[in-house]
Amino acid sequence: MTAKEKMALPAQPMPEQDPKVRAHNMDEVALGYSEEQAKAEASRCLQCPTKPCMQGCPVAVNIPGFLAKAAEGDFAGALSAIRETSLLPAVCGRVCPQERQCQKFCTMGKALKDVGKAVAIGRVERFCADWARAKGGCGEGAAQAPRTGKRVAVIGTGPASITCAADCARAGHDVTMFEAFHKAGGVLVYGIPEFRLPKSIVQAEIDGLVKLGVKVETNFVVGRTRRLRALMDEDGFDAVFVGTGAGLPKFMGIEGENLVGVFSANEYLTRANLMKAYEEGRADTPFWHGKRVAVLGGGNVAMDASRMALRLGAEKVYLVYRRSEAEMPARIEEVHHAKEEGVEFHVLQNAKRVLDDGSGRVGGLECLRYELGEPDASGRRSPVAVPGSEFTLDVDTVIVAVGNGSNPLIAATTEGLEVNKRGNIVVDPETNATSIPGVFAGGDIVLGAATVILAMGEGRKAARGINAYLEGGK
Ligand code: FAD
Ligand code: SF4
Repeated sequence: MTAKEKMALPAQPMPEQDPKVRAHNMDEVALGYSEEQAKAEASRCLQCPTKPCMQGCPVAVNIPGFLAKAAEGDFAGALSAIRETSLLPAVCGRVCPQERQCQKFCTMGKALKDVGKAVAIGRVERFCADWARAKGGCGEGAAQAPRTGKRVAVIGTGPASITCAADCARAGHDVTMFEAFHKAGGVLVYGIPEFRLPKSIVQAEIDGLVKLGVKVETNFVVGRTRRLRALMDEDGFDAVFVGTGAGLPKFMGIEGENLVGVFSANEYLTRANLMKAYEEGRADTPFWHGKRVAVLGGGNVAMDASRMALRLGAEKVYLVYRRSEAEMPARIEEVHHAKEEGVEFHVLQNAKRVLDDGSGRVGGLECLRYELGEPDASGRRSPVAVPGSEFTLDVDTVIVAVGNGSNPLIAATTEGLEVNKRGNIVVDPETNATSIPGVFAGGDIVLGAATVILAMGEGRKAARGINAYLEGGK
């Protein structure tokens, strides 16, 4: 087929649940391509010799290579090509911000002047992973090296840790993961909701690790249950990976934030997802069922919290964001889905104070209108408050989703571990080695709140660092 003929092929739409129905259930919104759709979408790839899409992928997945195989219906071959660099295709295919990464650079999207018409790389990636899982495997691939007798402790079980654990186990090391929560998976289980990322997919990855011989210890808070140094000095671990993420919620610092009915998005989503509060009558988790909810923020966390509030019975959900929609950091698809489901967007507005209903509970939210000024250090135009523009939103619940910082516990309990002024662990960019010999770190605890694919890439890099360190006989 010529390039011109390929350009005329229609982009395959993602089958989805009806917005009116899905806004009240927890099932996955995007239903996934059929085999025919996956092949048709993959066939749109122009096989550009310069592979611009790969430059946009943080782990440089061989995109034209896997699309060529998928176009022929060789989904197992496509998955093997993806897995050469990415360990979590079922997850990344669903949650990566493709429109800012691979798809942003796709020639097809550029030629058709619409990033939405770029080859749907993530959707085909997801299809290949789901296809393999349905056939009883994740396409694990790489064989395991002979046992080395070396022991690696991996702290945390998010995407950085999952990847690091897999690569260290494949190198023949004896790996144990330590997780503070009662369930492994990090943000993939406690933060990102079921309707976006089914938990069975994350569990399949954890099960794959267990099959590789990785031990998973839950309810184990390193820094409290056991200190990091004790893992090395007393428990005999030869190397440690710290992948503890960025789970410390930030607040606005405004009046009324301590009222009953104000939550961090982290707490709200953890109760709802990990603690299954949506399974009313079956889960014991106490939950605040707000009827009129304001969510503060414009990222994926804010979208997840507002869509979760709808599913948990809110009649009105307002998303309050101080910049314009063009500056929202959330994935375009999540913004689109939130709007379709009925979340009301209030852009260029921001919370000024939370009002007391007279009994210590949320009685409303006073907001200010904003305008966009000059670009700030991030390159985004900074919002400027319009004096005297105050107005009140009638809400009984406020969810704060304005960012997360690094959890300070490990740094505070590990002498000699260097962190920067934001509390992120400082590492060697080549090996992810920290200031303590034998201790490596990666993911959000190093980068600050980032993305799944970046965390995964960091875990992989750290595993290479650990494997080289252990090979050196240290
Ligand atoms: P995490 O996934 O945060 O995992 C860290 C784990 O370490 C946690 O399980 C934690 O309990 C555990 N832990 C912490 N301290 C200790 C300790 N002392 N001892 C033992 N265990 C400990 N990214 C995307 O790419 N796309 C998205 O759509 C997207 N949506 C998101 C939605 C939400 C609600 C959130 C919160 C984040 C989202 N992200 C998204 C960001 C992404 O999930 C993170 O960048 C990624 O999960 C970071 O991975 P990680 O392995 O570094 O840490
Ligand atoms: Fe295919 Fe788009 Fe990548 Fe070109 S840029 S190789 S069309 S996915």
